[in-house]
Amino acid sequence: MSAQPEAPPTAQPLLRVEGLRTWFPIKAGVLRRTVGHVRAVDDVDLEIPAGRTLALVGESGCGKTTVGRSILRLVEPQAGHVWFEGVDLLGLDPGALQPYRRKLQVVFQDPMASLDPRMRVRDIVAEGMRSFGIGASSAERTERVAAMLSRVQLDPDQMWRYPHEFSGGQRQRIGIARALAVEPRLVICDEAISALDVSIQAQILNLLRDLQDELGLTYLFITHDLGVVRYLADSVAVMYVGQIVETGETEQLFREPAHPYTRGLLAAIPSVDPERRSAAPQVLGDVPSPANPPPGCRFHTRCAEAFERCPREAPALYPVAHGASRCFLSEGRGSADDAKDSAKRDRS
Ligand code: SF4
Repeated sequence: MSAQPEAPPTAQPLLRVEGLRTWFPIKAGVLRRTVGHVRAVDDVDLEIPAGRTLALVGESGCGKTTVGRSILRLVEPQAGHVWFEGVDLLGLDPGALQPYRRKLQVVFQDPMASLDPRMRVRDIVAEGMRSFGIGASSAERTERVAAMLSRVQLDPDQMWRYPHEFSGGQRQRIGIARALAVEPRLVICDEAISALDVSIQAQILNLLRDLQDELGLTYLFITHDLGVVRYLADSVAVMYVGQIVETGETEQLFREPAHPYTRGLLAAIPSVDPERRSAAPQVLGDVPSPANPPPGCRFHTRCAEAFERCPREAPALYPVAHGASRCFLSEGRGSADDAKDSAKRDRS
């Protein structure tokens, strides 16, 4: 993509994703011909104001990790825009993209797999600083590593140890220190707590929240677990087979989920009130393949509320009081102005 990036027409949040499409070719035969595509991300829009957290939620294989990787350009999308600080990252060549790589960092799910076992913690955390020219000398970087480890509540004296000498939770703290060492503005947390015990999950969520308050960070929190987002996220985007099916401010979306899929996900959370759980629609069967998404509403094969129109026509994202819902049953339930007013109310 070589087009000259231009600023979007209106005042921007820190990150705005528009019409993002990342498909992967399916090759077959001796000649490795393209016989189809996995539509991992299919026309996705998202936005996150500076200093806020958006949770991107969905079952395994729905495309949420590919959204994160597309934003970071670890995979190349075929279409769309990723506006960051008003610049379209998808329009930048590798040289122009380099300064933004520092500003967008990622914390991965498996801290053991993402930390080089042969490197000491000091070098793991200092690696990014060195490549982005942070710190005038090795001694200065060591000092910064010590400060980073304190910030994530690890003992700075442990910086000379190797990753295997730490617990899972401690390793995730090292991963967070490594991301923060280069002073990012946006951190993509990709299933960052999924591999941890529940009690450790709560500690890492607390840490992320404290760091956000102290440093003004913006988070894109990618998770399959709708239960954990209530604590951390200001807003939620629910993803299903490559598309966003519901968005909204967190509290309102939990109170009044509009899309049958969101209601099904909420019903699976043990802490949700049993009356609401039994009233929620069941999500039937398995997730369809993004290589062959169902026609019409992609959720119709699993939706207990599907009706005649659903397999024939694809629903738009209709405005609802707290955001938007991609379901015919939400059509006419709210206006864009309602959604904006509701968002303002939640923030005040
Ligand atoms: Fe269910 Fe139809 Fe709504 Fe899709 S459009 S979520 S199938 S009711």
